[in-house]
Amino acid sequence: MTFITRFAPSPTGPLHLGHAYSAMIASDMATAECGQFLLRIEDIDQSRSRQHWEDQIYDDLAWLGMNWPRPVMRQSDRMAVYDAALNHLWAQGFLYPCTCNRKDIAAATSAPQEGAPLHGPDGIIYPGTCRKLHADKDLTQHPRPKHEAVRLDISKACQAIHDSSRFQFTELCSGPDGETGTIAFTPDELEATVGDVVLSRRDMGTSYHLSVVLDDAAQLITQVVRGQDLFEATRIHVLLQVLLDLPTPAYFHHDLVRDDAGKRLAKRDDARAISKYRAEGASPADIRRLVGL
Ligand code: GLU
Ligand code: ZN
Repeated sequence: MTFITRFAPSPTGPLHLGHAYSAMIASDMATAECGQFLLRIEDIDQSRSRQHWEDQIYDDLAWLGMNWPRPVMRQSDRMAVYDAALNHLWAQGFLYPCTCNRKDIAAATSAPQEGAPLHGPDGIIYPGTCRKLHADKDLTQHPRPKHEAVRLDISKACQAIHDSSRFQFTELCSGPDGETGTIAFTPDELEATVGDVVLSRRDMGTSYHLSVVLDDAAQLITQVVRGQDLFEATRIHVLLQVLLDLPTPAYFHHDLVRDDAGKRLAKRDDARAISKYRAEGASPADIRRLVGL
């Protein structure tokens, strides 16, 4: 069977132990399966991405002994693909513009009658303020706004899916609560626990969720290897795969590297940058030992 996996870092800071752990698991699996290990640079956030971080990623991964085919896929080269997918979803009436900022959302969900705000993979579940605002309009007759955030009307999108057997994925490792094997969910669960996610961020022209789904499909990824912190987001990805007629790969959500006190390493923990260990004379074997591989 073909096995293609990937490591998809964002060039917004140095790679640290947690990144090395994820990349090594993916690369080791590809080797064991006689498959392919691909690299993808997730640089849609141009305000935070830097060329020198990208260069450092290549340098650190090569030092760790990894190989990957060139040229590497970079999300900033794929804006036209994201734009076309958004047009497709807009034309079906699944999207609407949202002008709420964090404060508006917090205010709308903290009204006394609302109870405690519910949290989903992207933070507070969006209360639907802008969806209600546009409820009587046929937005497909209007051009899609390119500089505002655009959200997915999850209820409308779910209603359009007739084959609910596609609402599942295979977990090859485990979720944070030990979830493994076939992970199935219902449209109602999606609506209640995810809500209307942003598919195109303001002035960005895409979002993590939309890009990751389109890119995994374009790279023909069969097994997504990534941290358990993204387990909850996978249901959004499956929904987008169904809406965009893309295959659903298998997922391997690994545990997260913890420090000696058992605390999860922060994503931005420069004290554990690979470059710092390298400067101190560590070897790739030392890094493997440090992350428990
Ligand atoms: N760019 C993402 C991150 O660094 C990776 C997401 C993924 O593997 O799906 O967290
Ligand atoms: Zn809004």
